[in-house]
Amino acid sequence: MELFQADDYDDHEEVVFFSDPAVGLKAIIAIHSTTLGPALGGCRMWPYASDEEALRDVLRLSRGMTYKAAMARVKLGGGKSVVIADSHEDKRPELLHAVGRCIDKLGGRYITGEDIGTNPFDMAEIKSQTPNVSCLRKEDGGYGDPAPMTALGVLQSIRAGATRVLGSTDLKGVHVAVQGVGNVGANLCGMLHDEGARLTVCDVFADNLDKVVAATGATAVEPDAIFDVEADILAPCAMGGSLNDDTIPRLNVKVVAGAANNQLGSDKHGEMIRDRGITYLPDYVTNGGGLICCSAEWYGTDPDEVTGNVMKIYDTCLEILDRAAASDMPTNIASDMLARERVTNGG
Ligand code: NAD
Repeated sequence: MELFQADDYDDHEEVVFFSDPAVGLKAIIAIHSTTLGPALGGCRMWPYASDEEALRDVLRLSRGMTYKAAMARVKLGGGKSVVIADSHEDKRPELLHAVGRCIDKLGGRYITGEDIGTNPFDMAEIKSQTPNVSCLRKEDGGYGDPAPMTALGVLQSIRAGATRVLGSTDLKGVHVAVQGVGNVGANLCGMLHDEGARLTVCDVFADNLDKVVAATGATAVEPDAIFDVEADILAPCAMGGSLNDDTIPRLNVKVVAGAANNQLGSDKHGEMIRDRGITYLPDYVTNGGGLICCSAEWYGTDPDEVTGNVMKIYDTCLEILDRAAASDMPTNIASDMLARERVTNGG
């Protein structure tokens, strides 16, 4: 494979392949950029079908972290690690310790956190081998679960979308369809309910759905039906890739703003959403609240400052919407340009 010609290779500073046959470790760590600070990004444990797939994922995700950090205005760069393993079958302390030793070899240029297939308990295992870990539980010296701050950031993005498209910051009576009411989605529904918004929700996991319906009086629909709901706003808070060739033509909303990473099937879907007259708030901006929390933990800044910094996501969203409108560009492209500018200009 021609690594330097690979589609997802974007002048990444460093891509390191690690193996430790004694514990079955195969991992790749990609550092996209350390221009704004050490590269922070989660550790994903996934049984990739091929090494190429793992490499593509780590290249794409680490670049996304550079953009996310730049837009969240934190002094961090973008990186990511992927461990080629099944978290349900293969995850053992020895494997996590080996991951920790790999991270340690990078000398602080890469800081890890939780991602798909890893959790805060795993971070404590990794921390036994390297100090370069963030997003820890309060019991382990961290600032705790970032999901409430992620949800608060999504709320600010929804408010920004409402301001520009519905003409008011007031979310009373605004109808929001939320796809996925897990950790972030449930927190978001609670906040929207407190604001007087009307909710339609879905989830593939009945327990999560029932709890949110009971707490907020939301209307529940089947998972796939969420794309047909006539609402003001759609908040994708489940898995990536939900905005694609099949779902975009069905959307019956004015704004899309949610927590899920990589909501667009590909960049062209940003244009497809724009052409339908729908306003899309880029995912790595809307969901930056968790990173702001992890950054504060890493730098030891006052936890009370986190909320104020997350609230600024509102202004960032307005800036993207205004730029996109002024240059007649899809919002995802305007946002990528702004992120690259911020990296070039030092934040
Ligand atoms: P979670 O696993 O707690 O919740 C996801 C929920 O989505 C679950 O309840 C799951 O059952 C549901 N779901 C999965 N597939 C679905 C489908 N097809 N239709 C409807 N529901 C479905 O995860 P989370 O921490 O709430 O994160 C949600 C999303 O936000 C993820 O994409 C995550 O990567 C992203 N994100 C989370 C954070 C954070 O702080 N937790 C930060 C940034 C981004």
